[in-house]
Amino acid sequence: MMPSPLYLDGVRIESFDEAVRALRLREVVEISAPLVARLRLKPIFGGVFAGGSWRLASTHRVHDGLDRVDFFVVDAETRFIVGYGTTKAEALSAARRMLDTPVGRALIPMFIARLRHERHEAQVAENRRREAEIAEARERARSRMKAVGSIPRRRRAIFERSGGRCHYCACELQLEGRWHIEHKVPRALGGRSVDDNLVAACAPCNLKKRDQTDHEFQARQDGDRT
Ligand SMILES: [Zn+2]
Repeated sequence: MMPSPLYLDGVRIESFDEAVRALRLREVVEISAPLVARLRLKPIFGGVFAGGSWRLASTHRVHDGLDRVDFFVVDAETRFIVGYGTTKAEALSAARRMLDTPVGRALIPMFIARLRHERHEAQVAENRRREAEIAEARERARSRMKAVGSIPRRRRAIFERSGGRCHYCACELQLEGRWHIEHKVPRALGGRSVDDNLVAACAPCNLKKRDQTDHEFQARQDGDRT
């Protein structure tokens, strides 16, 4: 008698040998996630299914323009599949044939235990990664707060008056970043360091402007753009 097929991520696996080989390659015998999302699961009890967490799963699909239903017998937790059929009876009897053999009785609990273990390990690693990410974000926020807190009141006032943007090109500036305090009328031309004459500017604008007044610079910029 032919053994019933297993499914490896939707690929039909014809024998236990293939499944064992796949598991040795650390692949996972399960149905793929998009398929799982579409499964409807019903518990199965009794006989070879007693004591397990076996479910009868059904999926609808359209094949050659016809509605088709596929049935699987699947472990609820690991989605390990032991039976497939186009009717419930077919899926159940395939699963019985798979489970009710010496090989099945020995290997299937092992497969499931291994899948559970791998899932658990993956989950632990994922949690650790997430915690590290959160800690890092917190640290970044903390050092940003520190940087912002140490900004002199005058620099902060100039930033706020400029609306957090470069006075000339309107690009967005970071308060704790490297923007320049810019004299609209340059000091070289007698411009004073008073509120009216001070704006925030990005470094490129400030360097390009040099000893021009704000009006000269803006006129030239507008000229460049047209
Ligand atoms: Zn600018």
